[in-house]
Amino acid sequence: MSFDLEVDAERWRRGLRQLVESTPGIVPVVKGNGYGFGRDRLAAEAHDLGLPMITVGTYNEVPGALAAFDGDVMVLTPWRPFFTDVVHDERVIHTLGRVEDVAALASGFDPNARVLLEGETSMARHGLDRHELAAAVAALGDLRLEGFAIHLPMAGSNLVEAESWAAALQTSQLETTTLYLSHLTPAELATLRERRPQLDIRPRIGTTLWLGDLGAMSIHALVLDRHLVARGERIGYRQRPMPRDGFLLIIAGGTSHGIGLEAPKAAAGVAQRGKSLARGGLEAAGFSLSPFTIDGKQRWFAEPPHMQASMIFLPSAVRAPEVGDSVDVAVRFTTATFDAVNLR
Ligand SMILES: *Cc1c(COP(=O)(O)O)cnc(C)c1O
Repeated sequence: MSFDLEVDAERWRRGLRQLVESTPGIVPVVKGNGYGFGRDRLAAEAHDLGLPMITVGTYNEVPGALAAFDGDVMVLTPWRPFFTDVVHDERVIHTLGRVEDVAALASGFDPNARVLLEGETSMARHGLDRHELAAAVAALGDLRLEGFAIHLPMAGSNLVEAESWAAALQTSQLETTTLYLSHLTPAELATLRERRPQLDIRPRIGTTLWLGDLGAMSIHALVLDRHLVARGERIGYRQRPMPRDGFLLIIAGGTSHGIGLEAPKAAAGVAQRGKSLARGGLEAAGFSLSPFTIDGKQRWFAEPPHMQASMIFLPSAVRAPEVGDSVDVAVRFTTATFDAVNLR
């Protein structure tokens, strides 16, 4: 395979163990593309770490999680009565963020389900307003309340907001002392634990767990082809002229791998475009910077990435890699799909 994630398994797992040991109550988040590793792989790692619960993003991720993991599976997306893929299972914990949803689940859809109530934080994504807590409690019926959850923003200090929800939880009629938290720093978590020893605090962590040690990972994107090009020569789907003499590299890694999903750093305003035109930069000619680095520099797309490969322009002064060589590439792991993930 030619666009692969290589993982130093021992080093990666050492990092996982360290974070789990230093974060009591941790609930690993296993969602989306599985942070580049795939969800099944992460579910297996969570099992090997001896953790009793994972959390997934959506209901369509639940069946796979139940198959790959033998503990509890929490769903981050709040339940809605109009969802058609809800999985009702003794190991599934649903999130509820609207009073009418609490009532609907309790009165018919799944009256004995295990649930979390979620509070709406300054994220303003999902959750109950704190004035609705009493109404939510009143609507619970026979639902089994497993805890309360809040999802905090990543900017700024979240301790004040987390504390005020902790206080709201303790003074409410909610019959739980378990607080699931997203996006609190280790220091903030420690402070919250110290100030609220009565609460069982459960941090839900994805990125800093699975991608906490990027040094344990490397991506191999192989050069599949290499052509000499002359200035003005037209190439690619769009038949654009090449800006100079050089090489055209065809490198494994295209849109299907998540390459090019991020806006490239193209010249934005008129003034900036003018400046880069004066410098003779490729961005002025409408080229975009690629995530591939060759000979120490980030290189330009010769045209927008294709499904499985990218066409990269290299000036002739650069020492061009050979067909079969591996090239450095910066990817965003939450949008990356690798041909293979190799733990060695
Ligand atoms: C995705 C998500 C997380 C995990 O986020 P990371 O930044 O990957 O740790 C936690 N809580 C909620 C509600 C989420 O949607």
